Amino acid sequence: MRDGQNSDVVVVGGGLVGALVTCVLAKKGHHVRLYEYRSDMRVEVSRGVSIDLALSARGREALRQIDLEDAVVNHHGIAMKGRLLHSKDKGLKEILYDSVHKNCIYSVNRSHLNRLLLDAAEKYPNVNLFFNHKLMDIDLEEGHLQFVDVKSGETINTNAEFIIGADGAYSYIRRTMAKRPRFNCNQTYIDHGYVEVSFPVGPDNSFIMSKDHLHIWPRGEFMMIALPNEDGTFTGNVFAPFATFEALDTPEKLISFYKDQFPDALDLIGEKKLVSEFFQTSPKTLISIKCNPYNVGSRTLIIGDAAHAMVPFYAQGMNAGFEDVLVLSELLDFHNNSLSKAILNFTKVRCDDAHAICDLAMYNYLEMRDLVTKKSFLIRKHLDTILHWLFPNEWIPLYSTVTFSRMKYRDCIYNKDWQDRVLKKILICVGVTIFAYIITFMIATRN
Ligand code: FAD
Repeated sequence: MRDGQNSDVVVVGGGLVGALVTCVLAKKGHHVRLYEYRSDMRVEVSRGVSIDLALSARGREALRQIDLEDAVVNHHGIAMKGRLLHSKDKGLKEILYDSVHKNCIYSVNRSHLNRLLLDAAEKYPNVNLFFNHKLMDIDLEEGHLQFVDVKSGETINTNAEFIIGADGAYSYIRRTMAKRPRFNCNQTYIDHGYVEVSFPVGPDNSFIMSKDHLHIWPRGEFMMIALPNEDGTFTGNVFAPFATFEALDTPEKLISFYKDQFPDALDLIGEKKLVSEFFQTSPKTLISIKCNPYNVGSRTLIIGDAAHAMVPFYAQGMNAGFEDVLVLSELLDFHNNSLSKAILNFTKVRCDDAHAICDLAMYNYLEMRDLVTKKSFLIRKHLDTILHWLFPNEWIPLYSTVTFSRMKYRDCIYNKDWQDRVLKKILICVGVTIFAYIITFMIATRN
């Protein structure tokens, strides 16, 4: 086995994370064969999950490793500086993500990004891409893989020194790992699903809403969000309990629901377009997966959604998957490019952080659909902003540590817990001082 340089690696899955890890490993001199189930999206257009994704610091740093950050962010990304909340009476309220450093997140087109990554992978002479190849069987320890060419039906048997599974939330490789002893896996489908609806382009190709924001219609139990696209349209997603979707079973009920809940959006989308898009597909499910370990010995590793699929509410699924690639790359640098050592150490370095972001993503659904409208949330947000402004390096709000830094995800949670404790102590001190002042004042006036 060649370990340290020119290793022979098979990557399963040519989605965002698989294409990126292929580039990074190839750049380090390894020979990579990437096998993807679907056809080449650069040739045949297919519609996958969610059109746009919010790219932030972790994903950007990973793209920088292969010199794609500028092409993605500056040439195709749309900067979103904050949330714009839409109320039922058509009112708007802006909540900036980072009013101190003015950091933004970027709306990027999923398939464009995937195509860029595949193009970049293909440019390395030590990379081979195979499309329409579905993994059907795998020997995780011996490195034997069996694919079927879904176009011709031909079976392909091959071996690899190292295997990286980037085959997504329903990973075949993870399911095979789950049959082994001491592999823990926790899979949760939340009771909410989502339906995609798009907002049309305005007159003269203008945006019909602010393109500088992520739009949210928070309604407690459910919400709608919309992200801007390069062509002037917006992609919206309604997230709601399946029971809510089931009740919207006729065009009349849907329109009356929109009139009640999202009247400004209905004006912009139009009844006809809304009805035709809403009933085009049934609501999609949302899954969260926490498992451990991510490796089988020193040969096989899962990364991205295959290792830690999460609900999309922190917009970190892809960013975390891209950061997996950064972590792998850092381990390779540390271990003289030895894939066996990097794979052996990956779980220890990454697992707790991946579990932490899965938890944060669950929490953020509540924040987006409900808490953002609460006074207590807005007061805390203002306090955070003031303290961050006063102590820019010491007091960094949770959203900023997750989205605009590479602080380990688990440390983002510790940091927030520490801030909560400090604020609680400050509130108690202020309360006690006010109480003491009132008592002193009452005693003084009685005498
Ligand atoms: P995938 O993109 O799922 O790619 C897996 C690939 O493996 C696919 O191409 C598949 O065809 C292939 N494959 C599967 N099985 C096999 C097999 N047996 N053989 C060969 N190939 C196989 N993340 C963000 O960071 N920001 C966001 O704003 C954001 N928004 C989201 C909104 C929604 C509604 C959803 C659902 C997700 C969102 N995410 C977001 C999460 C993000 O989409 C995922 O985290 C990301 O796509 C994971 O990339 P991946 O390469 O690991 O998996």
